[in-house]
Amino acid sequence: MDITVYCLASGSSANALLLVAGGDALLIDAGLGVRTLRAEMEKRGVAPSSLSGILLTHEHIDHVRGAVPLARKWGVPLVTNRGTLGALFAQERRDAPCREVATNGDVGVGPFGVRALSVSHDAADPVGFRVCVGGAVIAYATDTGTVTPAFREACVGASLVAVESNHDIHKLRFGPYPEHLKTRILSRWGHLSNNAACDLILSHTHEHGPACFWLSHLSETNNTPRMALNYWKKRVKAEGLRAAPAVVEVALRDRPSLVYRTRSRAVQLALF
Ligand SMILES: [Zn+2]
Ligand SMILES: [Zn+2]
Repeated sequence: MDITVYCLASGSSANALLLVAGGDALLIDAGLGVRTLRAEMEKRGVAPSSLSGILLTHEHIDHVRGAVPLARKWGVPLVTNRGTLGALFAQERRDAPCREVATNGDVGVGPFGVRALSVSHDAADPVGFRVCVGGAVIAYATDTGTVTPAFREACVGASLVAVESNHDIHKLRFGPYPEHLKTRILSRWGHLSNNAACDLILSHTHEHGPACFWLSHLSETNNTPRMALNYWKKRVKAEGLRAAPAVVEVALRDRPSLVYRTRSRAVQLALF
């Protein structure tokens, strides 16, 4: 079965990843508005009603903006843990079709085998996901202040890893954010830096061999795609490696960007 993964948006304003496996599809996060989500799915031949589910990492608006309207309109279940569902329905003041999965537990969503992975972020009960379908494994974690053991483990055997690369530490420290916000982002409940993402990629590839990595959830103020990629190149050089040990690409904040296909190499669209 051919599996395709589309990054529809990834950043501090909106996040949505669309997985298509044959005639089945799944969303990870629904941070775009419902009209945009529908249009972007239909452009890729996916009707909203054909979604098996909408996985939600946590209740922050950049991850859930279109989630409840989409689930209610097309009867697609929101899939996440009890803490996130409770926080989401309280903030929306209405509910929607849903299926609970325990943090660090497994659930089948159509043909997709899903594991919710605990991460470390200032939300009710934030998670990343490991999704298995048709022999492909996708690991996904953004909005986490640390690379948790659950996420690190989930990367083993994954063909595609989407990992947060939120900020350049120097740019954040000397940038315009107020001190309390800088402290929050740098804390273990905040966001992963370019350094942390590259540490994960290097240690993972050293132990488990190559994979495709998508640097995700970049900050608009404290990072740029070029900065994140340059940091990766610098790290490869500093390690004394002759060639990059992994395919590393950057997901764009505000528009659809990366596409991953199991039968062909990942394609980077109009990065700069
Ligand atoms: Zn976010
Ligand atoms: Zn968040």
